[in-house]
Amino acid sequence: MLIRSLEIQGFKTFPDKTVLQFNNGITAVVGPNGSGKSNISDAVRWVLGEQSVKTLRCTKMEDVIFNGTPQRKAQGFAEVTLNIDNSDRRLPFDKDEVAVTRRYYRSGESEYLLNKAAVRLRDVNELFMDTGLGRDGYSIIGQGRIDAIVSARSEDRREIFEEAAGISRYRYRKAESEHQLDAAEENLVRLRDILSELE
Ligand code: ATP
Repeated sequence: MLIRSLEIQGFKTFPDKTVLQFNNGITAVVGPNGSGKSNISDAVRWVLGEQSVKTLRCTKMEDVIFNGTPQRKAQGFAEVTLNIDNSDRRLPFDKDEVAVTRRYYRSGESEYLLNKAAVRLRDVNELFMDTGLGRDGYSIIGQGRIDAIVSARSEDRREIFEEAAGISRYRYRKAESEHQLDAAEENLVRLRDILSELE
C-alpha cells in the first residue's frame, strides 16, 4: 500500500486545489514557519476521519475551512482526497486504486466518498483498521507524540501494538457484537414484562 497523492482544496492554508505527488522513497516538505507544512499532515489525518478538533489544531471543525485573507475571501467548504495504490490489497477493498475523500461545508454538512461513492465514516474507519494508517493509527507521528507514547498508560500503549499486530479489527467487532447482545437482552427483558402483564 502506497500513498500516491493528496489533493487539498479549501483546507486551512490551501484555498486553491493543490495536488501533492508522493513518489517512491522519502518525501520531505520544507518551508518557512507557519507556511502550512503541518497542515498537510492534518489533511491526511482529517481525510482518514479524524474527529478531534484538538488533534487537528482547531477549536471547531469549521476551522479546517480556509478562512480568508485580506486578499482572498473565505471558502465555503474544504475537500481532501487521498489516493492510494492498493495493488498489494493491504486494504480490504478489491481495487488497485483507492481514493478516499472527505468534504465539509460551513453549514456543518459532511461527506465521505470511497472511489467517488458516498460512504459512512465507519466504512472509512473499518477500511483502514489494522493498517496503521487509520484515525488511531501510528503512521502519523505528531510533535510530542513520542513523549505521549512513552508516558502513556500501559492499556493505551497496548492499543498501538494491537493495531500493529492487526487485531484492532477483532476487538472492534467484539465490542460491537457485545453492544448488540446487550440491546437484544434489554429487548427480551421488556418482552418478558409485557408477556407477564398479558398472562
Ligand atoms: P512550523 O514550521 O512553525 O511548525 P508549519 O509550516 O507547519 O509551521 P502550519 O502549522 O501547518 O505551519 O500552518 C500554520 C498556518 O496555517 C498559520 O499561519 C495559520 O494562520 C494557518 N491556518 C490554519 N488554519 C487556517 C484556515 N482555516 N484558513 C487559513 N489559514 C489557516
